[in-house]
Amino acid sequence: MYDVLIAGLGAMGSAAAAELARRGLRVLGLDRFTPPHSLGSSHGESRIIREAYFEHPVYVPMLQRSYELWHALENASGDRLLLQTGGLMIGRPDSALVEGARRSAQLHGLQHEMLTAAQVRARFPALHPEEDMVAVWEPRAGVLFPEACVQAQLTQARRHGAQLRFDEPVRHWEADGDHVLVHTSHGEYRAQQLIVTAGAWVASLLPGLQSPFSVERQVLHWFDPAGDAGAFAPGRCPIHLWQFDAGRFFYGFPDLGTGVKAAFHHDGEATTADGIRREVAAQEVDAVRAVLRRFVPAADGPLRASVACLYTNTPDEHFWIDRHPAQPRVWVASPCSGHGFKFAPVVAEVLADLVQGKPQRFDLGLFSWR
Ligand SMILES: Cc1cc2nc3c(=O)[nH]c(=O)nc-3n(C[C@H](O)[C@H](O)[C@H](O)COP(=O)(O)OP(=O)(O)OC[C@H]3O[C@@H](n4cnc5c(N)ncnc54)[C@H](O)[C@@H]3O)c2cc1C
Repeated sequence: MYDVLIAGLGAMGSAAAAELARRGLRVLGLDRFTPPHSLGSSHGESRIIREAYFEHPVYVPMLQRSYELWHALENASGDRLLLQTGGLMIGRPDSALVEGARRSAQLHGLQHEMLTAAQVRARFPALHPEEDMVAVWEPRAGVLFPEACVQAQLTQARRHGAQLRFDEPVRHWEADGDHVLVHTSHGEYRAQQLIVTAGAWVASLLPGLQSPFSVERQVLHWFDPAGDAGAFAPGRCPIHLWQFDAGRFFYGFPDLGTGVKAAFHHDGEATTADGIRREVAAQEVDAVRAVLRRFVPAADGPLRASVACLYTNTPDEHFWIDRHPAQPRVWVASPCSGHGFKFAPVVAEVLADLVQGKPQRFDLGLFSWR
């Protein structure tokens, strides 16, 4: 009998395993593959972390805790997990991105600066916002290395006594009066509580529920710079997120040694975790090139690689971290609408407090079953 069984050991599950085991609980973590792997939502070399959160100011205190926890994990693991490059949120002054980032920064007294398009071009020569665009600059934004983060979380989980089993998919589960019985490809396990962090597979482990989640295919691209490569060095190029043309988003990273990575945020095709089209079409590369030519022209060089990845979206694109509506011993915490990675360690603390019945330190109202 385990205290907690965790189904899915990607970003959220590996963090939860580490936190719950650190608190002394008997933890079993299961994954259908061997994480970190490139079949879910936590691969592709880099993830953005940013603090002036345009999506809603309620995320900011959680983010601030997340920064502390990532630094603590870096210290505990000895691995480089986070590179602070600063960040720019670029768009028209009334765009959701710029307005939202500015609102969060002001409400929470975050260090930030408003820049005109000319100031952005002068300070960050790789980036070419149009004349009517502005930017919110925040110095604490940067890059997380997702594969190394998941690996470090798994190592910490084991170090604190969690049992982790890979290549063992959970098939189904049933909750009884005083435990949950979990059936896998290899056998059965009993636990007091079950946490479902199965990413894009989450709905398959919530039978009988009308799933509000949708899975979206997203493609990441890496290009060799065609122009001034030095302008993409991490010291000169921050992470940058853009809102352009009627609510479309794209983002880019500095060159971390493997080329300049850029991708759209949303606008991907609807898919499923098992049915995703992994090959990338030439038109998809052309579409991101067209945007780069407009806003980051020196990035439009030879293509190095393109990789498909999965978002698990909620209808309002906020997170979903809550108890199963019909099974009080079961928790769900994976659907993060394409912006959850940076929160993994704080989501783990939230989950651990929920499982242990402790009072919550954060406002979780936006993330509840709805
Ligand atoms: C292209 C892309 C870019 C992104 N960019 C950012 C960003 O810049 N910043 C940011 O904060 N977030 C970003 N995100 C979102 C973030 O990466 C995700 O929210 C996060 O990685 C999701 O973690 P997860 O643990 O829910 O899913 P995953 O990491 O995919 O983990 C789910 C795990 O469950 C396992 N599993 C599935 N079914 C079963 C089963 N039946 N039994 C056992 N195990 C199972 C899977 O094998 C997998 O390992 C991005 C996502 C994508 C796809």
